[in-house]
Amino acid sequence: MEANVERRTSNVQSANRTDSSSGERRTPEEIVRHVYLHIPFCARICPYCAFYKERADPAQTQRFCEALVREMDVAKDRFDITPQTIFFGGGTPTALSTAQLDVVLGGFHECFDLSELEEWTVEANPGSVSPRKAALLKERGVTRISLGVQSWDDALLTLLGREHNAAQAEASFHVMRDAGFPSVSIDLMFGLPGQSLAQWEETLTRTVSLGPDHVSAYCLTYEEDTEFFLRHARGEYRQDESSDASFFEAAQRILEAAGYGQYEISNYARPGHESVHNRGYWAGHDYVGIGPSAFSTVGLERWQNVCDYRAYADRVLGGASPIATKEALTPEMKRAEQTALLLRTRFGVPAEWLAAWPAETAEFVGLGMMERRGDTFVLTPKGRLLADSVAAAFV
Ligand code: SF4
Repeated sequence: MEANVERRTSNVQSANRTDSSSGERRTPEEIVRHVYLHIPFCARICPYCAFYKERADPAQTQRFCEALVREMDVAKDRFDITPQTIFFGGGTPTALSTAQLDVVLGGFHECFDLSELEEWTVEANPGSVSPRKAALLKERGVTRISLGVQSWDDALLTLLGREHNAAQAEASFHVMRDAGFPSVSIDLMFGLPGQSLAQWEETLTRTVSLGPDHVSAYCLTYEEDTEFFLRHARGEYRQDESSDASFFEAAQRILEAAGYGQYEISNYARPGHESVHNRGYWAGHDYVGIGPSAFSTVGLERWQNVCDYRAYADRVLGGASPIATKEALTPEMKRAEQTALLLRTRFGVPAEWLAAWPAETAEFVGLGMMERRGDTFVLTPKGRLLADSVAAAFV
């Protein structure tokens, strides 16, 4: 396994598929199974958002889509990619026009062997969903929609700077349902400035009443370089850990009572609807990222594309690499990352990984925050409230 990892890493450097061309069979561990694609455009810029995003310039977007397909074409020659999962994130993938989306979706069909594809997720914004777009996504093989609702309260949606209101979000959910996607997820946020527990419970109840297959519930974080961060620094907004904990517990209570299992701190799913893409990421599988700002990790090498879609398109269409930064990982770094990620999941961390921290492990078990299940340690509901602190003790 280690040897394979090293060889795969050197293949990244040499940028060719010598194994395949020499007839040597690649092992399943060497094949990249997960592909992420970043579309940075948003109709409006939300004041809390730290992702790489921009308002689209209609004169540039077609060229940008051509660059995405070109990068896919290069990636397919550099790596053995047989996707098990594809994830379109952003930004707002559905901010592209139907014709532009068709170019990008078609690129995947042309460049990759999709015969083993299990899940193809597209993040969608209620303000940019239409039956025509939904029909195209479905026809091209997309299986899962992640709809960024965030709240069912119009005042809170305005505060968040969202382009949609609650009625539009509900209509968009029905558009996706009517299009027949096998899995539709609703994304929500809690811990918002001025949000009451009653408002949050109402949002959860209304979500459940629509019957999505999956719900993501994220606590607002004040990220640097955002307007919300500045307001928080000025004391206009406050983070209240005890009310955040109440919101978190309400999500667990209401969603689990409705049949959604919490399989990660922020993610709940009906049986059979856990995100395969995210599970692969948490398990530390290799993934290749396409598009500006996208990260890739193959073996012990991680790199990120340039965070500027115009520069990205110039580089890719000019035959140059879009990579802006590279980082060499060590097995210890990867293990530490995986420990932190897996501790947030219901799958837990192999007990042998925590063998170097017997005192910390015993302490968390003694505090009722962690428990042993067979060969793994998992967080208890009490431990999930402080997952990041627990993870920090093991790295
Ligand atoms: S729509 Fe999403 S990606 Fe775009 S600015 Fe808002 S939160 Fe960020």
